[in-house]
Formats: sequence, C-alpha cells, structure tokens
Amino acid sequence: MAIVARALAIPVVGRVVAALDNIEQMDTVIIDGNEAKIHIRPADDIYQAYTNKMAVWAQRKATYISTRDLPGKTKDGIRIRLDINAGLPSDLDHLRQTGADGIGLYRTEISFMDSNKFPDVNRQADLYKRVIDGANGKPVVFRTMDIGGDKRVPYWNSEKDENPAMGWRAVRISLDKPTLMRHQMRALIRAAGERDLSLMFPMVTEVSEFDAALDLLNTELDRAKQKRKKLPKDLSVGTMLEVPALTFQLPSLLKRTDFIAVGTNDLFQFLFASDRSNPDLANRYDPMSPAALSFLHDFVNTCLKANVPVSLCGEIAGEPLEAMALIGLGFRHLSMAPTSIGPVKSMVRSLSASDLEQHLESLTDFSGLSMCRILRTFAMDNSVMI
Ligand code: PEP
Ligand code: MG
Repeated sequence: MAIVARALAIPVVGRVVAALDNIEQMDTVIIDGNEAKIHIRPADDIYQAYTNKMAVWAQRKATYISTRDLPGKTKDGIRIRLDINAGLPSDLDHLRQTGADGIGLYRTEISFMDSNKFPDVNRQADLYKRVIDGANGKPVVFRTMDIGGDKRVPYWNSEKDENPAMGWRAVRISLDKPTLMRHQMRALIRAAGERDLSLMFPMVTEVSEFDAALDLLNTELDRAKQKRKKLPKDLSVGTMLEVPALTFQLPSLLKRTDFIAVGTNDLFQFLFASDRSNPDLANRYDPMSPAALSFLHDFVNTCLKANVPVSLCGEIAGEPLEAMALIGLGFRHLSMAPTSIGPVKSMVRSLSASDLEQHLESLTDFSGLSMCRILRTFAMDNSVMI
C-alpha cells in the first residue's frame, strides 16, 4: 500500500491508533507524510505554517520540472541512470512527466493483486505490451511475479506462513508452480514481439534457482520458435539481490546473469533480521550504517569488476541523501518512485562524484557511527542539493 501510494504521490501516515474515531465529517485534516504526522482540526498557526510549506514544495516541484529534460549527470560528468519503479498503468504517464531514463523495476505482481483471478496469458500479454508501447523505446525491466509475503492475492489460497517475508513467495512460488511462470514468460515474449525484452527474478536465494527459472524461459523461447512466433531482438535476463545468501555465490552468478538489481527493501530486512513492516523497528537499523554501506560497497565493486551491470531499486534509491551515498559507493543506475526522480536528479546534478568518493575513502574508521551525519555535512559543505 505504501509503495502504491508513493507512486501516486498520495501522502500516507499509517497505524495512527483511533484516528478515525477522532475525525468528524467535514473536519480539516492535514496529513504530513514526510514527518509522519497528522493534524486534526489544526489551529490557525499550524494551518498557516503548512500553507507556507506547501508554497515552498510547489516551488521545489517547479525546479524539478525544469530539470526534466536534462540528463542525470554529476558535475564531474558521470552519467547516473535514473529510472522509475512502476506497476500501475498510470506509471507510464509518470515516465513521461518525470523524464526518467526508463523503468528499472516493473512490479508485475501489482496487476495480479488488482484482479479477482490469475490473469491469463492474453490479459498479461496485453498489459505488458501496453507498458512496452507506452515506454516509447525507453528500457523496461519486468520483474516476474513477486506474490506472497506482504503481497497477497485474494484468490490464492495458500497456507498462512508464520514468517511471510521469508516464506513461500516470489520465485519460490514460480518454480513450484511452473505453469504460472511459463504463462507469464509466454506473455512477456509475446508482448515484446521483435523488440528488446528485459526481465528479472525476485527473491533468488541460490544460483540453482536462477538456472531453473532460466530453463523455464528457454522452454518458452523454444515453444515460440517452434510456433514461428516473433522473438525478442535482444533478451536480457537478470536477478534481484534480496537474499544475502546469494552474495556468497557471486562468482557463479556473475557468469550467468546479464544484470543484477539490488532490492534493499528486502535485502536489509534479512541483513539486519528486521521486519520491514514492523513500525517498532522502523528506525532501529539505519541503511546508512557502516555494515550496510560496506556490504553494498563490496558487492557493487565485485559486479563492476566482472562487467555485470548493477542497479538498485529499493526505496533508499529515492532519498537524495541515501542516493548520494550510493553513488559514492559506485552505483551508477538507480530506480525509484516517480516522485523521487526530481529531487534525486537535482542532487546528482549538484554533486561531484569523485569528490564524494575521495571523501568516503578518506574515512578509515567510522565503525559505530551512522554515516548520515558525515554525508549530510559533506552535502552542506559542497552545496549538494539533498
Ligand atoms: C526490494 O525488496 O527492495 C524491492 C524493490 O522489491 P519489493 O519492494 O517489491 O519487495
Ligand atoms: Mg523485494
């Protein structure tokens, strides 16, 4: 729900106990999603303060719109690819409005969740074709369905998992129910026709799962060939990195995969053993902690040395400060909610990546510290727009 609301730019504050008991019809309510606050029947001074804040936001938005057609390039000329995460038909408008470079993560499961039965091959193919057509030549990375966990589909009668995030979900379901996966691949191949097709698998834990998913894809490609259907001009098959175990198989994975997309929303909950949907833990582990940053730094460097493209599509990619840190670690491709493209592009265009890299290298011992303060100071000292 949070991901979809963010995509639609709807402010959301969740889990406010008894909020609805305290709100009467026609009450004025201010919902401040940035600060996680709601004000019911606000006093005049609060109302005025928010009116002023909204004027500032509107000005900022105008600045972001003015950068829409400019490239995501740092001051020292490093090109950062800025894509959107998508999953709703309205996201194609966002692709145009934001001037993003492409769709770095297309969450196919959202259309499965927004349906009263499994969409058949025809329905899926129509939808994926509309997405490829609407992207108008910009790259789209489709992620095969990531149902299960917190993404439940109403018509799927699975046993209730004790630990849904670590349960029967994503590629685990796809491999246990290969017909579902094959239908989705058939729909993707059909939708692409003779155009490029890029797809990736979620929650891959072992290289053998990547191989098994690839086998299913090859079966569908053979089927399309036999039936003399059109085949994708260029096929690119990648995996998400969401389960830490996969990094211990990097040498064999890097030989097989065309690219890797890091999903920090899931990765960090497993790295820190910290449920991403538990509000009591929301601020306990910092994505900017030395542990997280050194994990990502080692990972991105290994991928780059092997010449395997790597991107990051977790929510942190859409936060200017975190995105700046990711660039400092070596990431050159970020994918985020459409509303984040403007703020992140403004940050990118005001940053010297080499200055930041040097600054990070000069910090030999930061154990015990969150990097947030250090990064914020760097941004302030160097007029980086965070
Ligand atoms: C992630 O886990 O970071 C990710 C992008 O996937 P999702 O949020 O859809 O689980
Ligand atoms: Mg995920």
